[in-house]
Amino acid sequence: MPHPKTERTLIIIKPDGVQRSLIGEIIRRFERVGLKLCAIKMVTPDEKFVEAHYTLDPDWRRITGEKRIQKARERGEEPPSQDPYEITAVILENLKKYLTAGPVIAMAWQGAHAVELIRKLVGSTEPRSSDVGTIRGDYVLDSYNMADDDGRAIRNLIHASGSVKEAEAELKHWFLPEEIHKYSLVQEKILYDVNFDGRKE
Ligand code: ADP
Ligand code: MG
Repeated sequence: MPHPKTERTLIIIKPDGVQRSLIGEIIRRFERVGLKLCAIKMVTPDEKFVEAHYTLDPDWRRITGEKRIQKARERGEEPPSQDPYEITAVILENLKKYLTAGPVIAMAWQGAHAVELIRKLVGSTEPRSSDVGTIRGDYVLDSYNMADDDGRAIRNLIHASGSVKEAEAELKHWFLPEEIHKYSLVQEKILYDVNFDGRKE
């Protein structure tokens, strides 16, 4: 098993995050927890690239549709369809428009449990129900209902890989190996060095 500190995840600041000047705020939240930025670029993806990104995981269509149905059930509401694939077909079309609406910031972040930690900091998919203190909970107010009524994707500022496997595939999709950098952060000595508390000098 590789050391947890080698784990990497992909973050995309979506066009709404860029256009609301939230790049610095989002980066600050990942920096202050101790994670390391290893790659960053601004790109305007095309629709084909966005579709390929979301369908890297063959289960994404089913899971995303089921998540929507589950949320409707919790609220005692009708989901847009009972078929998860039908729901995701619409989401994917709307996502293509959303993610190509302007430049995005693609980043690779590294550190212990990076995938899980960043998902915790980012918050759940629907900002209406994202926890207070998370990026989505603190900076945006969108809901499934509003997005459905307006025929668009949920505007939630960020994409963050959902699992280590997803992160590996997504990082390959967005970055060449030489675009992901290796260097040390001063704080890694304190975060990870096993000898930290035994030092006598
Ligand atoms: P997450 O980004 O939290 O991992 P998903 O992978 O399930 O969420 O979905 C990808 C993106 O698609 C979401 O971030 C959101 O922008 C959009 N989306 C997901 N589900 C819906 C939905 N039911 N209605 C509108 N947009 C959605
Ligand atoms: Mg996802």
